Amino acid sequence: MRLRSVLPLALGIAACGDGENTPAHTHELDKVDAVSATFFENGNREYYTCDCGKFFSDSEGKNEIQKDSWVIAAVGTTADAFDAFTVYNSKSTKGTKGIVCNLDTDANAGPATYFGEADKNLEWDGRKTTIGFMLDLSELKENDFTIWDLSFNKKEGDEFKNTAEYELRFGIAKTAKGFVVCDLFVPGVTFNAETDLAEILKSDKTFDESTVSVSFEAAIDEGNVMTYAITVGDVKMEGEGTFTCDVVGFRTLWNAFMNRNGVEAYNFTRS
Ligand SMILES: [Zn+2]
Repeated sequence: MRLRSVLPLALGIAACGDGENTPAHTHELDKVDAVSATFFENGNREYYTCDCGKFFSDSEGKNEIQKDSWVIAAVGTTADAFDAFTVYNSKSTKGTKGIVCNLDTDANAGPATYFGEADKNLEWDGRKTTIGFMLDLSELKENDFTIWDLSFNKKEGDEFKNTAEYELRFGIAKTAKGFVVCDLFVPGVTFNAETDLAEILKSDKTFDESTVSVSFEAAIDEGNVMTYAITVGDVKMEGEGTFTCDVVGFRTLWNAFMNRNGVEAYNFTRS
């Protein structure tokens, strides 16, 4: 949201008159307040606009700037994403693009993350929403795998808690030919490295590129029926499940299971 306030002051005389018939234009500036970037949404530095279509960094209209030069990128689209997430797995590290997911051998997992939210909840009204990000899988060798999971919150009193009913989940494994991907949407929250990997390897859905865009798209209706689509590159996997509780938000985006260091996740978006 941009808050505008009209300045009572006036305003540099623009030296753009080009003849006797064109009076010099006096900028009248509206201030656009600075807005912090959030994990998913861009912010902006303070700037000033004039009806003549020019933009300025200062209240006197002296320093003209280009449109959108004030944009502060959403944290999730920068390497700062690592700092903004609450990352549980201390083995994971800040990458050049985002979060390098490294294996915690005790947990057999990469980072379990909250979306940089102190209360462990990213508010959601149930309307169709897509959480997207990029994965760099180039470190995976044959039979390596990574499992990603989007979990959901219910509310108990003032506290947000994992619904522990359904989570959106997919797995990717490296094969001799490329990558294979599988929808692992099942009731409950259990994981098993062996059986999950076997399930992934049974899939006939494949892709070749080691860098791939992925997304979780979900909507939930008044009957608590969630419909979803998980997209990995060109592979789209759809389904639905019914919760017994009211879902109020997203809880974690979790690199839930993997067996090798170095998968990098970056450019997180919500739409
Ligand atoms: Zn002007």
